[in-house]
Amino acid sequence: MNEGEYAALLADDAAHVWYPFTQMRDYLAGEPLFIERAQGVRLYDVKGRGYYDGVSSLWLNVHGHGHPHIDRAVKEQLDRMAHSTMLGLGHPGAVRLAKKLVDLTPAGLNKVFYSDNGSTAVEIALKMAFQYWRHRGETGRTSFLTLGGAYHGDTIGSVSVGGIDLFHRLFRPLLFPTVTAPPPYCYRCRLGLTHPACGLACAEAFGELLLRHRTELAAAVVEPLIQGAGGMITAPPGYLARIRELCTEYGVLLITDEVATGFGRTGRMFACEHEGVSPDLMTLSKGISAGYLPLAATLATDEIYAAFLGLPAENKTFFHGHSYTGNPLAVAAALASLEVFEQEDTLAGMQPKMAYLSERLARFTALPQVGDIRRRGFMTGIELVADKETGTAFPASARYGARVCRTARQKGMIIRPLDDVVVFMPPLATSLADLAVMLDILEESVREAAG
Ligand SMILES: *Cc1c(COP(=O)(O)O)cnc(C)c1O
Repeated sequence: MNEGEYAALLADDAAHVWYPFTQMRDYLAGEPLFIERAQGVRLYDVKGRGYYDGVSSLWLNVHGHGHPHIDRAVKEQLDRMAHSTMLGLGHPGAVRLAKKLVDLTPAGLNKVFYSDNGSTAVEIALKMAFQYWRHRGETGRTSFLTLGGAYHGDTIGSVSVGGIDLFHRLFRPLLFPTVTAPPPYCYRCRLGLTHPACGLACAEAFGELLLRHRTELAAAVVEPLIQGAGGMITAPPGYLARIRELCTEYGVLLITDEVATGFGRTGRMFACEHEGVSPDLMTLSKGISAGYLPLAATLATDEIYAAFLGLPAENKTFFHGHSYTGNPLAVAAALASLEVFEQEDTLAGMQPKMAYLSERLARFTALPQVGDIRRRGFMTGIELVADKETGTAFPASARYGARVCRTARQKGMIIRPLDDVVVFMPPLATSLADLAVMLDILEESVREAAG
C-alpha cells in the first residue's frame, strides 16, 4: 500500500467506520492499525509490520491463522455451496458437526441448535429454558439466576443476564429482571471471606437464592470455571460441580455458557469436563470454527427438546432462527478444526505449554503493579493494582491496562485489556518458542507501563 492509498484509507476509516466497544474519540486521536494478512500466530498490518496475536483475535483463533487443513476445507465447501437456509432444510455438514459436538460435549446434550454468534447462542438458551417451563405448565418461571461480573453477550437478552456495570447498567430500563449471586472472585471476595476457609460460601449463597426464587427461575446461567470478560475471574475448585448439584436439587435448569471456554481454551475440550458437569443447556461459539467464520450452537438435553414436540396447533414450535444459521462455510471450518484437534493432538500439546506459562507467570508476581494472576489453560488475566498490599485499584482515569496494551503493540504484540486486567490468550497452537517471546513482550510491557 503506497502513501496515497494509506492516506485515503485513514480518511475513509475516520469518515465512515464506527468500531465495537471503542470510544471513537480516542480511536481517532490515536494511530489506527489495519490488519490485512495473518499467518500462524502473527497478524500483519497494511504496512507489512508483524504482530503476535496475543488474544487469539479476541479469544477466537485456535490452530493459528491460515491453517492449511481448515483453509482447504472452507475452499472445498465454497466450491460446492456458500449458503443455504436451515429453516426446514438440512445440509450434510450441519448433521456431521452436530453428531461430533454431541460426542464431544458432556453426556446428556444430544440436540444441537445452530446460530451465528455467542450472544445469540445465549439468547436461544434463555428462550429455550423459558419456553420449556411454559410447555411444562410452570408459567411463573420468568427469571434467571446470574452471577455478578457475568458476560454473556450484547443483545438485550444476553445483557439482561450480564453483570458488568460499565457495559450493562445503562440498559437496565430495557432489560428483564434477574437474580444475581456473588461471583466466585476470590481476589475481591464480595462476602469478605478467604478461600478455602470460606467453604465455598459463594456457592452456598447461590444455593440460597435458588431456594428462595426456585418457582420464579427458569434457569441459572454461568460461565463455567472462568468468567472471561468480567476480568478472567477463575472459580475455585468444586464451585462449578456444587452449582450443578444445587440446580438439580432445586429443580432449576443450568445453562453453561462455554462461548469463551469451549474448544480447548481451558486445557480440556470444554470447561465443564474439569468438574464432570453436564448442564441442561450449553452455548458454544468463538473457538467453534477455530476463529474462521461466524458460527454458534446451543446444545440441549433430550428432555428439553421433547417438551417442544407437539401438533402444529399446540404451538410448541421453537420460533427462532437466523438468516445465516448453520452457515455451511462456517460448519466446514468447524469440522476441519475438530479434525486438526485430532491430527495435531492439540490438547496434549498444550500440556508443556501450560507448564511453561505457569512458570513464566509466577515471575510476574514480583512486579510491583501485579495484584493477582489468574489462569485456566490458555486463558490468563493479570490484574494490575495501584497498591499491591491493599489491592487498591488504579483510578479508572489512569487507564493502566490500556497503557500496558499500547506498549505491547509497540513491541509487536496485540493484546486487549479488560479495565486493569491484562488478558493474555494466545492461540492453542502457539509454539513454545513463540510463547517465550510473547511472554517477554508481556513482561516488559507491564514493567515499562509502570515507569
Ligand atoms: C464473547 C462471549 C459471548 C458473546 O459472543 P459474541 O459472539 O461476541 O456475541 C457470550 N458469552 C461469553 C462467555 C463470551 O465470552
